[in-house]
Amino acid sequence: MQAKENLLGYSLESLESFFSKINEPKFRAKQLLKWIHQKGVLDFNLMTDLNKDLRAKLNSIAYIKPPIIHEEHVSKEGTIKYLIALESGSMIEMVEIPEKNRRTLCVSSQAGCALQCTFCATGAQGFDQNLDSHEIIGQLWLSNFHRKYNQPITNIVFMGMGEPLLNFDAVIESAKIMKHQLAYGLSRKRITISTSGIVPNIKKLYDEIDVSLAISLHAPDDNLRDEIVPINNKYPIDSLIDACKDYLNKYQNKRSITVEYILIDGINDSILHAKKLTRLLSTMSCKINLIPFNSFKGSNYKRPTLKKINLFKDYLMNKGYITTLRITRGDEIDGACGQLVGNLAHSIKGKHLISHKLIS
Ligand code: SAH
Ligand code: SF4
Repeated sequence: MQAKENLLGYSLESLESFFSKINEPKFRAKQLLKWIHQKGVLDFNLMTDLNKDLRAKLNSIAYIKPPIIHEEHVSKEGTIKYLIALESGSMIEMVEIPEKNRRTLCVSSQAGCALQCTFCATGAQGFDQNLDSHEIIGQLWLSNFHRKYNQPITNIVFMGMGEPLLNFDAVIESAKIMKHQLAYGLSRKRITISTSGIVPNIKKLYDEIDVSLAISLHAPDDNLRDEIVPINNKYPIDSLIDACKDYLNKYQNKRSITVEYILIDGINDSILHAKKLTRLLSTMSCKINLIPFNSFKGSNYKRPTLKKINLFKDYLMNKGYITTLRITRGDEIDGACGQLVGNLAHSIKGKHLISHKLIS
């Protein structure tokens, strides 16, 4: 017997081919998409506009199942960090950030990451597995439906664990569901894919789907970037900037790209670095997001002083760059994360899961 299919991660097109494969009309795909992603219903038996026979047929060949929330930690400001268990037993994290008029979800695309950026806890953990599309969209489904908030998720950033452009198909499939009017209906402005610079896949991305792009630059020259973002050895800065410009051209230069730049004390945070950065970005429409380094166990890096951070920021702003600062919201959630690691060390197959980054 064929394995049952989890339909949670199917875009409209995939559901249409699923239904045609089982000799059912195409419009069933639209009904299913709405049930799952707008009404939050996972049980075929509750889908009242599907006839009894079809429900029985679906029950015998398919199911709809999100991943499981293993733990959640809420900070004073209301930021919620979830640890989520995949079918394989691996753990990922997602973070919900409520703000005045929006609710942002930071999703993971891989468990672990193979790229080993020197400042990143996920990189230090190594690569575990790619997420399936149902495990990516499942994060959004859980955020909206496992507990009823007044405000559903309004924005998605692929800035959790993993490199989204190295799990290309599943990321695209889930982003299609995020955008579809019969599912979450999020516009391209509300979905940001962040990449450390998988150059060939940036072009592939904008050929497939229209979403916002963020690049994790973190260094203004190849020497330094080779060291802290090792994928730069394969795809150097010039090729990355060219790929960004191609993306901007594709949209008649009406867009801008978010450039993420982590600030690490004594490594990339001097005014000389800022100066080089402004020169490098002078021909590209972008806004810069500065992220003071968040420390984690096992890392020797430090966060610069607030004074240094502000000097760097002011330099960029004086040169005319729109610059934002993503300050971790209090040490409180980091404390919670620390405890989380401790608690989990025993429960996850002895694996050391390190919480990291974020939180704007
Ligand atoms: N792999 C993708 C997306 C996930 S990482 C990428 O690299 O873009 C997303 C962001 O997390 C990175 O841009 C980096 O800015 C941030 N990050 C990683 N480790 C961090 C740390 N220790 N402190 C602060 N931000 C961190
Ligand atoms: Fe991977 Fe992004 Fe972390 Fe680099 S910063 S190791 S690409 S998750």
